[in-house]
Amino acid sequence: MGFYRRTVGISPDGLGGLTMQAALLTEFQQPIQITDVAEPVLPKDGVVIKVLACGVCRSDHHAWQGVDPDVTLPHIPGHEFSGEVVEVGADVRRFKVGDRVIAPFILACGHCVHCDAGESTACSTQDVIGFTLPGAFAEFIAVTRADFNLAHLPESISPTVGASLGCRMPTAYRALVDRATLRADEWLCIVGTGGVGLSALLIAKALNAKVIAVDISDKALEFAMSLGADHGLRADDPDLQTKIKTLTGGGADVAIDALGKQSTMLCALASLSTLGRYVQVGMPAGKSTVLPMPMDQIYAKQLSLHGTRGMPAHRYPSLLSLIESSQMRPERLVTKTIGLDKINDALQAFDQNLGFGVSVVVF
Ligand SMILES: [Zn+2]
Ligand SMILES: [Zn+2]
Repeated sequence: MGFYRRTVGISPDGLGGLTMQAALLTEFQQPIQITDVAEPVLPKDGVVIKVLACGVCRSDHHAWQGVDPDVTLPHIPGHEFSGEVVEVGADVRRFKVGDRVIAPFILACGHCVHCDAGESTACSTQDVIGFTLPGAFAEFIAVTRADFNLAHLPESISPTVGASLGCRMPTAYRALVDRATLRADEWLCIVGTGGVGLSALLIAKALNAKVIAVDISDKALEFAMSLGADHGLRADDPDLQTKIKTLTGGGADVAIDALGKQSTMLCALASLSTLGRYVQVGMPAGKSTVLPMPMDQIYAKQLSLHGTRGMPAHRYPSLLSLIESSQMRPERLVTKTIGLDKINDALQAFDQNLGFGVSVVVF
C-alpha cells in the first residue's frame, strides 16, 4: 500500500483544503500553468488515484488548441494515465487503496443499451477523462464508475508503459482487432507514425501481420523500422502508391489514417487493395473536421470504412494478454520521460513535427 503526503493549502476558492499541483489550461493556445488547484472530490461510485504517469497525446494538443468541442476552461488535460488508488468510494467493490490501475479515457455508465451490448465507447452518458472531466496532468485524479471502467495494471507492466493503456494502445487494438479484424499474414498500411500509429505497428506485429509505415519524417520511419515495420516509406514519395502495390502484391488489406488530415486519409485509402478495410484512427479536428473523400474508390474497390474511438474497458484482458504473451515490449515507444513542468514543450512538439516516439509525464 502506498503512502503519499497530501498538502493542506489554500485552495483556489480561498478556503482551506487539500491542494495538488496540476497543469491548468486557462486560455487556449497559451502556455499551460503549473499551479495549485483543489484536489478532486471522491465520487461515491469512484476512486481517487495518485497519478504515477500520464502520456502526452495529440488529442491533448487538440484540447490545448481549443479545437475539441468537449473542453471548457479552466481545464486540466491529460487522458492516458496509470496510478495508484488512494481513496475508495462507498459503492466501489472491485478496488482497494494501493491497487495500481489504468482506465480507458471514455468512462461509460455500465447500464445503457450500448454498455449492455459491450460497446461502452458508444455509451450515451459517457464522461471523457481530460476532456469533459479534469484530466491526469495532475497529482491526483478522480475516476467515476470505477467498478465498470477501471482495470488493474499487471505487475509486469511499469507505470510509464501503463500510461499508454488509456488511449494509444487500446485505440490501436480496437481499430485493428475489433473494427478491421486484421489477421496474420495480412498487410497493414499505417499512415502517420505518432503514438497511436506506432502502437498499431506493435499490435499488428504481435498479430503476425505485415506492416508498411508511411510518414513524412525519415527519423520517424527509421524508428518505425527499428520497432519491426516491414517497410518504411516517405509520404511525399511520388511513387509511394506504386511501391505499396508492388510490396503487397496489389494493395494493403487494412489501412489506417493515424493522424486525421486530408492528405493522410487519401494516402491510407489509396493504399488499399480491392475489398480492403479502412479505419479512421486519428481524430479529424479543427480545419480537418470535414475531409472530402473519393467515393469512386470506395465504390470501385468495394472498400469497408470504419470509425473508431477508444476501447471498452472489458477488452483490457485481451489487450494485456497480447502484450504479456508477445515480444511487443511497448516500453520501446517511450522516447522521453518528462516532469509536469515540461508539458508545454511536449505539446508544442506536435506543432513542429519534432522528434519521434512518445513523451510521458512521470510524477
Ligand atoms: Zn489520446
Ligand atoms: Zn452506457
